[in-house]
Amino acid sequence: MAAGSSPDFDLIVLGAGTGGYTAAFRGAQLGMRVALVDQGKIGGTCLHVGCIPTKALLESAELFARLKKAKEFGIVLEGKPGFDYAAIAARRDQVVKRMWTGLKGLVDKNKVTWIAGRARFEGPTTIRIALNGKDGVPASGPGGASGGGEHVITAKDVIIATGSRVKSLPGLVPDGRRIITSDDVTTKAELPKSIAIVGAGAVGSEFASLFHDLGVAVTLLEYLPGIIPLEDKDASAALERSFTRRGIKVMTKARFDAASVKVGDDGVTLMVGPEGGPAAELKVEQLLVATGRAPNTEDLGLEKTKVELERGFVKVDGWMRTAEPHVYAIGDVIGGLMLAHVAAHEGIVAVHEIAGEGPEPIDYDHQPRATYTHPQVASIGLTEQQCTERGIETKKGVFNFAAVAKAVIVGETEGFAKVISDAETDEVLGVHLVGPSVTDLIAEAALGMTLETTAWEIGAATHPHPTLAEALGEAAMAVAGRQINS
Ligand code: FAD
Repeated sequence: MAAGSSPDFDLIVLGAGTGGYTAAFRGAQLGMRVALVDQGKIGGTCLHVGCIPTKALLESAELFARLKKAKEFGIVLEGKPGFDYAAIAARRDQVVKRMWTGLKGLVDKNKVTWIAGRARFEGPTTIRIALNGKDGVPASGPGGASGGGEHVITAKDVIIATGSRVKSLPGLVPDGRRIITSDDVTTKAELPKSIAIVGAGAVGSEFASLFHDLGVAVTLLEYLPGIIPLEDKDASAALERSFTRRGIKVMTKARFDAASVKVGDDGVTLMVGPEGGPAAELKVEQLLVATGRAPNTEDLGLEKTKVELERGFVKVDGWMRTAEPHVYAIGDVIGGLMLAHVAAHEGIVAVHEIAGEGPEPIDYDHQPRATYTHPQVASIGLTEQQCTERGIETKKGVFNFAAVAKAVIVGETEGFAKVISDAETDEVLGVHLVGPSVTDLIAEAALGMTLETTAWEIGAATHPHPTLAEALGEAAMAVAGRQINS
């Protein structure tokens, strides 16, 4: 931007995933002139290859699993329930398309300027965009050899929201056929007969649950001692027990050498074994790599700014400010809790900070986490292990879904609610849920913890009967030993 000239926009947002579009829309609502730049489709990872397609697939798998129990509910089906995976995938794509159409409408409604192309910093608040050509591919270089040319825009403030991409293990190269990633499962319509999933975080565990419910033989390999390793140990153990009982082969402390992975015409073989133990051959139709995500910070021209990186992720403070004045970063590109609702929340904080509204910094101990396995897992705040590490004295209350009437009615009695509170003040420090619909139930804990509630207060709130929410109410009462139904 030449000295004295006014910038083209108040705010440029780089990347239109959940974080980016939320920031853009909020900025526009506050009266900012906003440009939203993306080389792909609005909605990013979450809408096109993440949250939404996976949850659509999981919904079909769950319905199928429930249909198999129809007789238990007195429902008579003619013949055995079956499924058509191509139709499941088509429904998945329809759900995505519907939400995508809605988002495109919101760009116009909010009067945000949409720019399709790949962005690079030319200076701290000057962005060069290789515009997408008719084929939807950005220009390959100056002049736009294969694309639609270039465009330079300026703004008072810039938010980096370029997200993340799938990451494999060294020596393991996904080919989309035998060695696949979440991108393949969320866009293709093929179902293997057997699969090994490497990585039992939320994504790997959700896929294990999905494939198993659709009749695929699943082996879940996790390097660490437990699955969903970021969750409370009781939640991790409960999910592992449930998976094992249902017939998913779970191997924790699993070790294999990428060099042992051999791709053939009919499948993949690898030598795998427990840490310190003998390795045995595992033969599967596909190997799914779910070992985390890499931030999109390369080729962004960050060297033309003072923005600092740590292990590839953009470094920010609690208000999403980078080391470069007027440049902010949000979402997966800053690492930490790489979740869509966290990205959106960070986007709102960044925009409110830019607008001078003095927002509260992000409190990562109050961000809910959800894993849509069967049974579901949801949590917020500290695990018991983290409380111990931080030297916090705690009390806890646990209540099993088996004693909740609604859980018996829906036929899903696995799991529990656990409430951890400060031993002295009773403030709720963590809530951990395993069981039916807990990814919805965690919202009550999120509201409570935002209001710095105590376990006593959650227990004092009337929970309607019969509902699954009673598990949380009872667990909160159990903190003071005053649960009623167990
Ligand atoms: P992204 O959604 O990654 O968007 C970044 C955007 O930036 C992309 O559209 C990309 O095209 C664009 N971009 C990148 N570089 C450039 C550039 N140089 N120029 C222009 N554009 C660029 N989270 C949940 O909360 N719940 C879930 O159930 C859930 N399920 C998931 C399941 C899977 C399989 C995966 C992979 C992830 C899941 N997540 C889930 C995580 C969630 O998808 C991410 O946390 C979220 O998408 C992050 O949003 P973002 O805006 O930071 O980035």
